[in-house]
Amino acid sequence: MSKDIRYIKGVGEKRAELFEKKGIRTVEDLLYYFPRSHEDRSEMKEIADCAEGETVCVSVTVFSPVSDVRVRRNLLVSTMIVSDQTGALNVVWYNNKYVKGQFFTGDEYILYGRITRSRGKKEMVNPVFEKKGSERFTGKIVPLYPLTEGLTQKILQSAMELALKEAGRLDEYIPAEIRDRYKIAELNYAMKNIHFPDDFESYNIARERFVFEELLILQLALSQHRDENMNQSGIVFSDVKCVRTFTDTLPFPLTNAQKRVLNEIMRDCKSGGVMNRLVQGDVGSGKTAVAAAAIYAAVKNGHQAAMMAPTEILAAQHAETLAGFFKDAGIKVALLNGSMKAKDKKLVYDMMLTGEADVVVGTHAIIQDKAEFNDLALVVADEQHRFGVEQRAKLAAKGSNPHMLIMSATPIPRTLALILYGDLDISVIDELPPGRKPVKTYAVGESMRKRVFAFLGKNVNAGMQAYVVCPLVEETEKSDLQNAEELCRKLQNAFPSFKVGLMHGRMKPKMKEEIMNEFVSGEIKILVSTTVIEVGVNVPNANMMIIENAERFGLSQLHQLRGRVGRGGEQAYCILIAHGNNEVTKKRMETMTISNDGFYISEQDLKLRGPGDFFGTRQHGLPEMKIANLFEDRDILAISQQAAKSILEEDPLLVSEKYKGLRRRAEKIIAGGIVMN
Ligand code: ADP
Ligand code: MG
Repeated sequence: MSKDIRYIKGVGEKRAELFEKKGIRTVEDLLYYFPRSHEDRSEMKEIADCAEGETVCVSVTVFSPVSDVRVRRNLLVSTMIVSDQTGALNVVWYNNKYVKGQFFTGDEYILYGRITRSRGKKEMVNPVFEKKGSERFTGKIVPLYPLTEGLTQKILQSAMELALKEAGRLDEYIPAEIRDRYKIAELNYAMKNIHFPDDFESYNIARERFVFEELLILQLALSQHRDENMNQSGIVFSDVKCVRTFTDTLPFPLTNAQKRVLNEIMRDCKSGGVMNRLVQGDVGSGKTAVAAAAIYAAVKNGHQAAMMAPTEILAAQHAETLAGFFKDAGIKVALLNGSMKAKDKKLVYDMMLTGEADVVVGTHAIIQDKAEFNDLALVVADEQHRFGVEQRAKLAAKGSNPHMLIMSATPIPRTLALILYGDLDISVIDELPPGRKPVKTYAVGESMRKRVFAFLGKNVNAGMQAYVVCPLVEETEKSDLQNAEELCRKLQNAFPSFKVGLMHGRMKPKMKEEIMNEFVSGEIKILVSTTVIEVGVNVPNANMMIIENAERFGLSQLHQLRGRVGRGGEQAYCILIAHGNNEVTKKRMETMTISNDGFYISEQDLKLRGPGDFFGTRQHGLPEMKIANLFEDRDILAISQQAAKSILEEDPLLVSEKYKGLRRRAEKIIAGGIVMN
């Protein structure tokens, strides 16, 4: 299995490099390169029985070999006539100079292709052909692989067939008792049938095995990664009733969902264990107020709390919000940002160390080296800041093994949450504060731009503000940046009496902050921005968002963006300008227009794009799935979860001989960077 693929016949040095691009080095790598689909070439027909439009195999004899006709300078037509006992068939190739001279009268071939009709005669264009008696990829079900430049289906199919032979009998690593219990196929059977199935039922059985295996191994890997501190003893908040005093001062009553989640948090904080809790809630569900209540409790129990935000802008806004919430509570909130002057930072460090600052809000910097707390008991963090073992250790070393509260605005289906956040308890705020008007969402094409801009003008004239969001997938993509700049100029020309601002991710933090402040203060009326505004900013006077190239965003991301408007009392609008007319794009845009429910939207996103795209592996640290589809395979996901659980109960470290193979594979995933960052 560990043999280099360049020793497989037909691979060699040159092609090995192409395979390498797909991460394939060994026979084992190759075998685990699964087909994306199969082609059923198993049906053999006689020519007389072939109907137009059918794709079939025929067994034929060459009647008259290939003759070439150059129809135009750039069009070469090669024709050959073949026959069987029931009739004749024309075979045609276009611009293929290699077929001439390949076939001789009387030679017997199997052809596979689509039957068409031309001038009353049956015809097959550009068929797959193999000499009769040495068929390899006709007369059966044939795998089709994801290709890369320079590699054809034929090369891959052939290499795969030889690799299967080369590998011989494979060592099974899922013990028989588990396969029996969950009705999972054995490895050798599965490996053959995932590539060259006898029939589609065998294929499905094989596929299920590998989906199960992939999900099982992922979960075993995650568990190996799980925080060892989970059962350590934590700081006890003996007075949790005090949060009532805080919630009574809020200008609104908490929703039932907020109350429930706050209770769950408080239960953790007085339990004696260390809280590791994820709070999921749609945009606008009021996560900040819940976090603030927890922070309040930490402080009133005599400790400090920290709140981490992914950007400086957001940190500043959170600091302001908290200071507002706590203004009569005698709680001191400090802001610590990387771009602050050294002198000011030093001031904050001192306040943290002496305990003068009760709450510190900032970016990741606040848990880094120079930042020391007097008595840190609670860290509230955004989803972007998942804590790995290492950071947790760092935090704990700051003195106190603090409670962790992680806030996530990406609602994901429960089954997935269990995988992604297997090491966390999960609370869901599944209710929005009353009286919210859903954002009216429209999906339009480029042809509507004039009307969209007219509508924009009307809203701004009425005293409102607007975001115009442009995609910038990679902050380094120059053309995207140019597009944003260009759009900004255009809008400024169209609306000379309003200030139009531009903000993008490559600006210095100070600059971004200035622009954001001008938008918050209402000086800038229209803010053209790349997705840097996505996270959390709150400008209630903005009631409109136009999203350019909406097809390039994930639905969950669009939903997040849209959550930036509709925070005031006015009716809010979101206009998606989408390009291209494919069905998936249409469906995705439609999903946005009909739903304001983050859970529903993320589920549709998953369905329409697949989990790879959905998660953007970088963000979530999950490895790309080779075969499992986390949405469609949720039944297998469920049984793999059971299997993982029972295996880990029996042998948490997977040290026994029978789990050796599973452990090796789990370790490989971890080494490959499954980092829960
Ligand atoms: P998110 O969950 O997206 O972080 P926020 O915490 O920013 O949401 O809350 C959105 C808005 O809703 C804020 O202006 C906040 O003050 C308000 N809000 C929060 N909880 C309630 C509530 N129970 N009733 C009314 N308004 C609320
Ligand atoms: Mg928020």
